[in-house]
Amino acid sequence: MQIFNVIYKKEKTLQCQFSDNFIHPRYFGSEFPIGQHLITAISYDREYVMGLYKDLIQFYINFLDTATEDDQHLFEKALFKIDDYCIYLHETTSKLLTMIEAAHPCYSLNDLASFLKDFDQAGVARFSKQYTQRKTSCRQRSNEILSLWCIASELLLDEFELLTNTIKNDIYDICNAPAEATGLDRLHHLDYDKKTILFKMEFPIRLNYSLSKSINSKFFIADNLGASKVVYSVAIHTVRELMYYDLFTILENNMPLKICKNCNMPFIPKGRIDSLYCDRIMPGFNKKCSAIGSINAYKNNLSDVETEYYATHRRYNTRVSRNPLLKTEFETWKIKAKEKLTAYRNGEISADEFKEWFMDDAWTK
Ligand SMILES: [Zn+2]
Repeated sequence: MQIFNVIYKKEKTLQCQFSDNFIHPRYFGSEFPIGQHLITAISYDREYVMGLYKDLIQFYINFLDTATEDDQHLFEKALFKIDDYCIYLHETTSKLLTMIEAAHPCYSLNDLASFLKDFDQAGVARFSKQYTQRKTSCRQRSNEILSLWCIASELLLDEFELLTNTIKNDIYDICNAPAEATGLDRLHHLDYDKKTILFKMEFPIRLNYSLSKSINSKFFIADNLGASKVVYSVAIHTVRELMYYDLFTILENNMPLKICKNCNMPFIPKGRIDSLYCDRIMPGFNKKCSAIGSINAYKNNLSDVETEYYATHRRYNTRVSRNPLLKTEFETWKIKAKEKLTAYRNGEISADEFKEWFMDDAWTK
């Protein structure tokens, strides 16, 4: 599906002009940092994105119903939030909104025939079942309609994952390339068939009028009227093409593309290029990988006796929480313990002396 008209490279960002400006009357393009949205696309948090889509569906339907400025504003905010999270979801969003608009306000299955043909049989069956199960009544507003479009979003996200899986595998292979490979040479590491496909990709360059300044990374029609600089643009139309163009730009600029030592997902460090951990809170974790990484590094640096000391400290803590009468003694012990730890680290007392001291639990009796 053609979703972009044209792409511009500007400093450390890519600018895209959409070909689908019908979903929003003024918003026609977006600017995003090279690499970062591509990384999000291959490691996106599906649950989080489904939450964003629920809001979008709700606000879009309200907007279609009322056509008021307030509802348009809420819809716009929900739409921008998804593009800000990952511009590569724009096609999914566009398909979803087109489906909703075509079916509004009666939501009859016939209105959707042309969109459903894109899904596999199981998907169409799931969607149609939901359709026939609900009692169709024109202008019915209920959770049923929301759940219907949520199913459509799930199907579209399945498609999105199919699309991103290939480039995700390529990125893993590139990250595993020998350390001495730099720039576009990192592509050498891919297998022959893959290279053949990638080397045949074309990104035709054309002269074009530049976009004007972005506002919060967005381009709006009214603000672009005066744009007249002539610059090079790239004729890229699909999400897949733009993803590979983004990837090649990362490599060409020698940006550090690597695998996070905690979540095992590819990332591009935003700060120090030698960081081993990404800055994301990945599904299943409650801290940023970088925070988990520094805790682990700290633990690995601890001597055995220090590890034992911290375990003992925790044990005493538990004992005191069960017996609050020990609280004052524990506070005194903690001050002394800090001094002893410093003395041990400074080599003033030996590991054995330190251990003998903290293992002595006479103060708890
Ligand atoms: Zn990570």
